[in-house]
Amino acid sequence: MIMDEVIKKINESLNIGITYHISPDGDALGSALALLIGLKKYGKNVYIISKDIVSDDMGYLPCSSEVNGFQVTPKEDTDLVIVVDCGNLERISADLSNYSGTIINIDHHLSNDEYGNINYIDVNAAATAEIIYSLLKTMNIIINKDIATCLYTSLVTDTGSFRFSNVTKRSHEIAGELIELGIDNSSIHSEIFDNKPLNSLKILGEILKNIKVFFNGKVSYLELTKDICDDCEDVSDVVNYGLKIKGVEVAVFIKEIKDGVKVSLRSKHDFDVRKVAEVFGGGGHTKASGITFRNKTIQDVKELILTSIENELV
Ligand code: 5GP
Ligand code: MN
Repeated sequence: MIMDEVIKKINESLNIGITYHISPDGDALGSALALLIGLKKYGKNVYIISKDIVSDDMGYLPCSSEVNGFQVTPKEDTDLVIVVDCGNLERISADLSNYSGTIINIDHHLSNDEYGNINYIDVNAAATAEIIYSLLKTMNIIINKDIATCLYTSLVTDTGSFRFSNVTKRSHEIAGELIELGIDNSSIHSEIFDNKPLNSLKILGEILKNIKVFFNGKVSYLELTKDICDDCEDVSDVVNYGLKIKGVEVAVFIKEIKDGVKVSLRSKHDFDVRKVAEVFGGGGHTKASGITFRNKTIQDVKELILTSIENELV
């Protein structure tokens, strides 16, 4: 089994780096830090490799200070790099260009390039943290309150607070066990969601003011241009508002970023947004995916995405 291969490789390694996808979300950070704490307890020299720093709202995560943004390459003598919650090599928040050791890829994205030497992909896991939970359990690493806080954060983030269709009985069972370990689930929720800078709500207001719908109300469209906010951080969940409208099946959010345009796609029922994302080199899940365009204007990207969605609408 693939789990055994992962454990065998971990057992054979002493110095282990852990990383995730760029702009890490709650699942990426929660999974990585849960694994970090777990493997430390297991006796490994383990550390985080990350080009990113932790966003303010994730600062409560245990060991978040170990994500410093300085360690961007594997340290010398690293035997193993474990990448969590990342579907493609290009999106890893680490520079692995001079690293020739083993890579383990642990992920739940349907779009996954299997770039690792060992690839543990479970698309039925609502969050990568569900896989990390199983891994720690199988390795007999006791899940303490710190690990539980990390894993619960991942679950909450990737399930939209347990409301998305990726949620299974198992997601709730794991969450139940984590709560039993004494985590403050309500506080974790508040840390994640009730902790925004005032300005990010004002920006949200600006974006929502200009929401549009297309194709008989089936597609909603939101955008954030640089003139409203340059280098805005805390707007990642804006796209979910687009799905709240009655009759909308697909929500599109396009944001101008430093060197291009970032697209977030979400769907409510059967529409596969991953398919649309993959056409343009992006990826993700059936109901949540993303694309990054370089050298294109927001107007061009809007055109391309809306046309592509229109062609897929039945
Ligand atoms: P979000 O819209 O929240 O940034 O991302 C939604 C999902 O799409 C996540 O699972 C994320 O991994 C994936 N995703 C977002 N942006 C990109 C991208 O530029 N390329 C790829 N391959 N996947 C992306
Ligand atoms: Mn995830």
